[in-house]
Amino acid sequence: MAEVKSDIEIARAAKKKPILEIGAKLGIPSEHLLPYGHDKAKISAEFIAQQKDKKNGKLVLVTAINPTPAGEGKTTTTVGLGDGLNRIGKKAVICIREASLGPCFGVKGGAAGGGYAQVVPMEDMNLHFTGDFHAITSAHNLLAALIDNHIYWGNEQNIDIRRIAWRRVMDMNDRALREIVCSLGGVANGYPREAGFDITVASEVMAILCLSNDLKDLEKRLGNIIIGYRRDKTPVFARDIKADGAMTVLLKDAMQPNLVQTLEHNPAFVHGGPFANIAHGCNSVVATTTALKLGEYVVTEAGFGADLGAEKFFDIKCRKAGLSPDVAVIVATARAMKMNGGVKKEDLGKENIDAVKKGCANLGRHIQNVKKFGVPVVVGINHFYSDTDGEIQAIKDYVATLGAEAILCKHWAHGSAGIEDLARKVVELAESGQSQFAPLYPDEMPLFEKIETIAKSIYHAGEVIADKSVRDQLRSWEEQGYGNLPICMAKTQYSFSTDPNLRGAPSGHTVPVREVRLSAGAGFIVVITGEIMTMPGLPKVPSSEKIYLNEQGYIEGLF
Ligand code: ADP
Ligand code: MG
Repeated sequence: MAEVKSDIEIARAAKKKPILEIGAKLGIPSEHLLPYGHDKAKISAEFIAQQKDKKNGKLVLVTAINPTPAGEGKTTTTVGLGDGLNRIGKKAVICIREASLGPCFGVKGGAAGGGYAQVVPMEDMNLHFTGDFHAITSAHNLLAALIDNHIYWGNEQNIDIRRIAWRRVMDMNDRALREIVCSLGGVANGYPREAGFDITVASEVMAILCLSNDLKDLEKRLGNIIIGYRRDKTPVFARDIKADGAMTVLLKDAMQPNLVQTLEHNPAFVHGGPFANIAHGCNSVVATTTALKLGEYVVTEAGFGADLGAEKFFDIKCRKAGLSPDVAVIVATARAMKMNGGVKKEDLGKENIDAVKKGCANLGRHIQNVKKFGVPVVVGINHFYSDTDGEIQAIKDYVATLGAEAILCKHWAHGSAGIEDLARKVVELAESGQSQFAPLYPDEMPLFEKIETIAKSIYHAGEVIADKSVRDQLRSWEEQGYGNLPICMAKTQYSFSTDPNLRGAPSGHTVPVREVRLSAGAGFIVVITGEIMTMPGLPKVPSSEKIYLNEQGYIEGLF
């Protein structure tokens, strides 16, 4: 086997084209590209508005089986497929999320893809990029400061300081800030109260930015944020303390999609990055809808496995933005199939066809689930060096029994040349016009029934249980006019059930709803079914220990 180069080594060797040339490929005139250096640019709001009446290209969702520590490669496959489609002559645009600093210095790794299927400049993308996360952090914290200030100056809105729902955020994994007491130090510093920090990607401002159609819509949604409650439990909104205008000003540039390029000089929109648990985990509606106007094909990714990521992509993002996906690619790996089949991580290097077969039940469930949305499915097997022909064949045979096709893809090692077959199949399915996309449940369905529908139909749960307080809460939101909102499930990504250790395709389990939260600005109801971390911590040995600047001033260790 040839020496394997790290992602950053490959990215650094890339000969990038000037970003104006990449924009020109999509017909974006230079005056509408706002360059950030030579290799990144934002697309002007004016240009985006001008595209409104153009026909949409085909929309391809890349999703996956339940993640395992073996790694699946959704972003890598999204980027690879975009390059693959361009290679076979289709004008394709990639839409992915921006990276958070938390996972970058913690455990997870980068967000720019991997191997020969990456977007560049990967260092910028994984670090400060064009400052969008800074803007989101600032807008979020402006609101937090305004709340405490409002209380300090007499609390005209009668906010109950025990019921403030708005925390502060920063883009870092920092468990020390999860729960804090603020306003200590005497009268001049306000009223001491419990507060805390979340990571920026968990901010409702992030979810709002990613779901808004334009700046007007953004401002309206920001105003709808519930910042807390009065003693009589009535909600206080961000607009009640006149925060929405200034927050919108801070987000003006962050709202515009960022254009970068792949290693093969194809256009990629990298924009937004909401958490996939308490938010919907997809890139921005503005980026996706704009890409659809400019490209024949748009390939985009949803976070976690298809039970969470694809379901929210369909039921939240597509429903709200009026998008209609044409094809879904489910990424699977032989290694992850083995893990789902019971093999331990340290034994993944050994061939084990029986375990692959056993683990395929997980893949099968996802295939059937995605078909429930009316979207045709193809499986992309992301090839790893350790895979054997027997293991790959076992996956192909299994998928064929479900009336679908699994295609081996070697984009990580070979770029677009390794993924032509999948690209051709995606075109065939998209052009067949087979897709009859419809969300899983109608807007009018009562909230608890929506939760049951997701749990039973997608997770194959036997029942959903919830305390009276949860059911009462849902009912009171229905009375207040929030009943038509979609559900945003917060569940472990590792299993169809709420038990992260239950791999494969479990059925008949119980889904306990611990808590429900209204994200009135984003426009969904978060249903929490287990421990949900909104401020992650760093591991004992964080990846930051390996990150440094070398003698030439280049970044080392960033994956
Ligand atoms: P996801 O989007 O599913 O979280 P990514 O695409 O970001 O996963 O990939 C995670 C990591 O796995 C990246 O560092 C990438 O380089 C690596 N990776 C992806 N596919 C392969 C592969 N086929 N062989 C080896 N490493 C891979
Ligand atoms: Mg990813």
